[in-house]
Amino acid sequence: MRKTRYAAAAMAAAAALTLSACGGDSGSSAEGSEGAGGENIRIGIKFDQPGLGFDEGGSKSGFDVDVATYVANELGYGEDQIEWIETPSAQRENMLENDQVDMIFATYSITDSRKEKVAFAGPYFVAGQDLLVRADNDDIKGPEDLGGKNLCSVTGSTSAQKIADVVPGVNLMEQPSYAECVTAMQGGQIDAVTTDDIILAGLASTAANKGQFKVVGNTFSEEKYGVGLQKEGSIVTCEDINAAIQKMVDDGAWEEAIKKNTEGADYTYNAEMNPPAADACA
Ligand code: GLU
Repeated sequence: MRKTRYAAAAMAAAAALTLSACGGDSGSSAEGSEGAGGENIRIGIKFDQPGLGFDEGGSKSGFDVDVATYVANELGYGEDQIEWIETPSAQRENMLENDQVDMIFATYSITDSRKEKVAFAGPYFVAGQDLLVRADNDDIKGPEDLGGKNLCSVTGSTSAQKIADVVPGVNLMEQPSYAECVTAMQGGQIDAVTTDDIILAGLASTAANKGQFKVVGNTFSEEKYGVGLQKEGSIVTCEDINAAIQKMVDDGAWEEAIKKNTEGADYTYNAEMNPPAADACA
């Protein structure tokens, strides 16, 4: 069932409107453009993760953007009906809870603690946490080499949490985004940046960073990228999104998108875990 935001508000305000507001609903994506009624959909992405969610002078690119665009189209929203909104790691749950976005495609790992606040469709990708170091660094080969080292990760990410668990007492600097961590490493303040391998590979492959850094290649977590949804009153359903992701995999567009967006990066996705099967919707 798809409701418009306004229908959802009306339903909350007056029970009498409930029936009429739901009357024309359909779960079929074929009717999507009608169902969406010309309304926009607000999609949360990262703006500074090259190859995943990236904003360059207003134009958006990356694997998250491509999957989001495909799914939105299947749900009946044309590209001109997509409103891209920046959702930094630490603000994702809040932005869904406060109705600032309808869906999030932002390297957003499905976790039990996040599920207390938001719902997830997917996963549509599985990554693994890794380390990015300077190209000439030969002594950091994994988390076991991080004693006494200065690390950077992002507030509100599973990466910051995990590294603190795996390396107790690690000297961790937290930044609002991974791009800022890379800047700190360029400045020599830190020895390694930690987050998902695909994010690190994208950052290492930009024209500005090329040759300066390397991904260690020793993953120590499983990050299942889900589509973040509002727990109550979502205008889109987990089932419709999973069907759209499955279609994207089946018709080859998923494979094309992951290849295109990792081209030029020193990265190969884990083919044993990708493309992943969807979890059951809550
Ligand atoms: N996938 C991890 C997470 O959801 C790290 C990447 C990120 O911060 O977006 O926290």
